[in-house]
Amino acid sequence: MPRFEYAPAPESRSVVDIRSSYGLFIGGEFVESSGDASFKTISPATEEVLADITEATADDVDRAVRSARQAYRGVWGRMSGADRGKYLFRIARIMQERAREFAVLETLDNGKPIKESRDVDIPLAAAHFFYHAGWADKLEYAGLAPAGGRPPRPIGVVGQVIPWNFPLLMLSWKIAPALACGNTVVLKPAETTPLTALLFAEVCQQADLPPGVVNIVTGAGDTGRALVEHPGVDKIAFTGSTEVGKAIARTIAGTRVRATLELGGKAANIVFDDAPVDQAVEGIVNGIFFNQGHVCCAGSRLLVQEPVHDEVIRKLKRRLTTIRVGDPLDKNTDLGAINSAAQLDRIRELSGIAEAEGAVRWSPPCELPSRGFWFPPTVFTGVAQTHRIAQEEVFGPVLSVLTFRTPQEAVAKANNTPYGLSAGVWTDKGSRILWMADQLRAGVVWANTFNKFDPTSPFGGFKESGYGREGGRHGLEGYVTTGDDQ
Ligand code: NAD
Repeated sequence: MPRFEYAPAPESRSVVDIRSSYGLFIGGEFVESSGDASFKTISPATEEVLADITEATADDVDRAVRSARQAYRGVWGRMSGADRGKYLFRIARIMQERAREFAVLETLDNGKPIKESRDVDIPLAAAHFFYHAGWADKLEYAGLAPAGGRPPRPIGVVGQVIPWNFPLLMLSWKIAPALACGNTVVLKPAETTPLTALLFAEVCQQADLPPGVVNIVTGAGDTGRALVEHPGVDKIAFTGSTEVGKAIARTIAGTRVRATLELGGKAANIVFDDAPVDQAVEGIVNGIFFNQGHVCCAGSRLLVQEPVHDEVIRKLKRRLTTIRVGDPLDKNTDLGAINSAAQLDRIRELSGIAEAEGAVRWSPPCELPSRGFWFPPTVFTGVAQTHRIAQEEVFGPVLSVLTFRTPQEAVAKANNTPYGLSAGVWTDKGSRILWMADQLRAGVVWANTFNKFDPTSPFGGFKESGYGREGGRHGLEGYVTTGDDQ
């Protein structure tokens, strides 16, 4: 078979207008910080500096929380659900209208392939606003309060801290349900990916959202900590690492502050010997190489039933030779850049340890760009459960392969992790799917598919993957109170 080369198909970046520097979004406008610290956000694919970003101080966070409180008391907390819903619809529509701008900006700042930001991140982010717009005037009928009890009411001011892997999508998972339920928010985006959150601030202005309903403070861990420790915050919604999640839980322990924590994962993707192998291979690839493996629910541990191990690995390797790694703005690219130098170091370190512990490393031949942060798609076979690569979250394009003989062994191995966010099952038998879903300690179990997301479906973890749910009716529970405390 002749091998055809792809012609370059770069998405134009002329659609985005990146300012040289950004202030903080407080009280409906961009304002300056009380301090003078700032940091650069760069394109991880080229290391080009994109913009100078304000590092919010504790005073800035205080200003943002006060502004959110004022908006909650004065406007948003009293507004009818139907009217709140109209604002959410408006935001969703504007996000759709500006989808190309958002997609290019996300790809530039994060390094993910444009086909993913264009086809997954941005449409899903808008879908979260559409979905929650629909809930805003129906909360009384959502079964959130006990029969005969007081109807669900907003909690107040919510502090929200998000990671860098799905910047706009995680923002939507946080802001859409909070606003639908009548809360106001102060959100801190991740320090390596603030740009789409700042563009979202412009969308809030365009939608005429009352000032202070959404406030966006940029910065790193210290800014996040200032938000978590602020006494004026009624609830913290956090997505990020288990380590920081635990620190947040310690900070708010014993206070009246509520929390939902969406943390790390080490999902098992389990392939039985009766699975349709070609489909399973696509699911394995999607499970671990989607978004460079920077996915909390990534199928990073492949468990294959022994009789089909060799066939699955042979087909997987063949498939991986067709993966295109490179310029994230090219519409043919499958695997983009690693989000930061620090993340690349971690992936390299854990991969080196895996080799030293005896796992067998394989990557397809691929040429990596000379600038930026890159890691090839990588598969480790011969992995034992005790290997660190089988235990720790790599958060990169690295798959560990283990084997099993019986369904009981698959369950025992899949559950042998401190995490419990997601799992995948590939089999022809419906009864086995149901049995497995019942046995697996994971918040989401996909059957004969992987990494499917939908705003109507709750998402969240067991064990060290956190608590609380986001999305669906269950996700509303974290943003309302039905007791006498508010
Ligand atoms: P991280 O915990 O280092 O950072 C997440 C956010 O928390 C960032 O905005 C960061 O600035 C902020 N932060 C850091 N220290 C803080 C502190 N002490 N107090 C308050 N905020 C602080 O995580 P990361 O490296 O950005 O993201 C990767 C992690 O996120 C992975 O573990 C991944 O599994 C997890 N994640 C989970 C989900 C989920 O839904 N469960 C989704 C996406 C990512």
